Amino acid sequence: MLRHLLTAALCLVLALPAAAQDVPLKVTATTTILADAARSVGGDLAAVSSLLPPDTDGHAYEPTAADIAGVAQADMLLTVGAGYETFLGRLLENAGGRVETVEVSRGLEILPLGLVGHSRDDEEHDESPFLGVLGEGLECEPHEHDDAVTDEPEHEHGSCDPHVWMNPRNVIGWVDNIVAAFSAADPANASAYRANGKRYIEQLEALDAEIEALVSDIPDDQRILITNHEFMGYFAQRYGFEVVATVLPGMNTGGEIDPQTLAELIIRVRDEHVPAIFAEVSANPQIAEVVAAESGAAVVTSLYSESLGGADSPASTYIDLMRYNAQTITAALLAGE
Ligand SMILES: [Zn+2]
Repeated sequence: MLRHLLTAALCLVLALPAAAQDVPLKVTATTTILADAARSVGGDLAAVSSLLPPDTDGHAYEPTAADIAGVAQADMLLTVGAGYETFLGRLLENAGGRVETVEVSRGLEILPLGLVGHSRDDEEHDESPFLGVLGEGLECEPHEHDDAVTDEPEHEHGSCDPHVWMNPRNVIGWVDNIVAAFSAADPANASAYRANGKRYIEQLEALDAEIEALVSDIPDDQRILITNHEFMGYFAQRYGFEVVATVLPGMNTGGEIDPQTLAELIIRVRDEHVPAIFAEVSANPQIAEVVAAESGAAVVTSLYSESLGGADSPASTYIDLMRYNAQTITAALLAGE
């Protein structure tokens, strides 16, 4: 009997995932999307947790006392950067400022906010739409989300759009940075991090090709996006779409639209026969629904922007999230034909 109990106990121990203290690296990532990329690189060698839970809006997030304690115990904090984590300064101050912070978007080309409404014809002048390369002459200051109700500073040129992950090629850049950071912190396992990273990059390249093939069904003049807040710039730039307007001003989900802009938006959607307006699961779709109802456009309220969905959602991994968004956009735009 005792032997059976011991065997059962041993099996239980073996079935449990490695406890955080048994792995070489303890990593906290700010968002679930970033944590997913970090897990793909870390494999069994890193215990990765996400500061923000699934289905959370990073723009309106305030870290809890438990978050601060978790960050203080981590070997490394991974951030999206490019001005995304407005709460970072306070978090690091409260965590004692000792944790190593890695901004994974370093080396990526950064788009400005406020590209909205610029037609694709503007880009035929061969002018790069990018502000520059993050960390190589370009630094991005975090935007405080409660400024969004005023007119500034979100719309000013020069402010960075941090939603880089909406282009899978940028996530390949994240993976390179994560491999480098993990290898520096745990040199003994550098070749494993490199191999894991290479495998994940192959999946990201396949995803990029899949999305490109999927959206190729949409005629050029129908590649129009109106979203709730400004988060699809990188997707649009990569796959030949135009973000013609956003329902909320700027990058923040907490912004408000004034009645005149709302009326103009409704007229524009109606006159240009825009087939669909896209809202994000983490944002309030109310105004998008008003625009849709008044203009005759369809409204899609299920795009994922800031965060993965839960385990039984269609977006429980980054790759699934991107595939789901691309399929949903394609179906909605083609339904208007
Ligand atoms: Zn956002």
